[in-house]
Amino acid sequence: MPDHYAVIGNPVAHSKSPLIHAEFSRQTGQDMRYGTILAPMEGFFLAVADFWRHGGKGLNVTVPFKLEAFKIATRLTGRAEAAQAVNTLVLEGEAILGDNTDGAGLLQDITVNLGVALAGKRILLIGAGGAARGVIMPLLEREPCILAIANRTQEKAYDLQRQFAGSGNIVAIDYTDLHGEQFDLVINATSASLHGELPPLPTGIFAGESLAYDMMYGSGHTPFLQFAKMQGVARLADGVGMLVEQAAESFFLWRGIRPRTHGIIETLRSHA
Ligand code: NDP
Repeated sequence: MPDHYAVIGNPVAHSKSPLIHAEFSRQTGQDMRYGTILAPMEGFFLAVADFWRHGGKGLNVTVPFKLEAFKIATRLTGRAEAAQAVNTLVLEGEAILGDNTDGAGLLQDITVNLGVALAGKRILLIGAGGAARGVIMPLLEREPCILAIANRTQEKAYDLQRQFAGSGNIVAIDYTDLHGEQFDLVINATSASLHGELPPLPTGIFAGESLAYDMMYGSGHTPFLQFAKMQGVARLADGVGMLVEQAAESFFLWRGIRPRTHGIIETLRSHA
């Protein structure tokens, strides 16, 4: 029987993770299969327990369960501990290891694939859910001039400011206070694009030569990328590169082999 892995979320049907891991296992010759699990909104813990009971070895965790996955883990990597959110679970005997590969995936995509350096830059991160939590520490490690966080539920952004205050220049900011502010990099880490919505951003937030990055991916531009394009932003990126890079980190954790990523990023882009 091949080892069994899956991505768990709600919704999950749109996920490209099964395609990506099928390509990684083909490329590296690993005997494994990878599926999807749609967990009920209140049924994450039971769905995970059921997966382990049926021989599952590891899970990718997507929206909206990353904070619950953090609670389920009995052991955490340093980056999952810092994020307090988990996107990768590994069954290790009786223990469940929780990791967070989102930050490494985003940084690999922005700084290596897209060639954008972050030191001294002004960065705006929109959203304060599991994905945002995972990328804050890696972003601060690149020593931006400022990392501002805006979120619909403002208190969550202020919680993140308090949590990461010792690690760099991070400030919570309300959407309404963004008028007149400009950023070199604006990252949409909300799930608004999943529902075809745009967070309440004012115009004028993009500095010249800025990069607009939406963690969401799919066919065509998301509402956030359309918004950026209408304001003349030339550098637009969706989350396909991040998705593939974070998947490669998870694959490495599970199988001890680092797959190549560029081919599958190109394939997914050309099929979007
Ligand atoms: P969560 O459910 O944990 O968080 C969702 C966040 O989006 C919250 O901050 C929420 O605000 C905000 N939000 C939702 N709807 C709106 C809206 N209409 N306007 C403004 N803000 C909104 O999700 P995740 O953090 O796990 O995922 C966020 C997004 O990132 C998803 O689209 C996901 O697909 C994508 N993602 C992509 C990855 C990749 O590899 N490319 C990896 C990880 C995530 P509030 O707190 O007020 O509810």
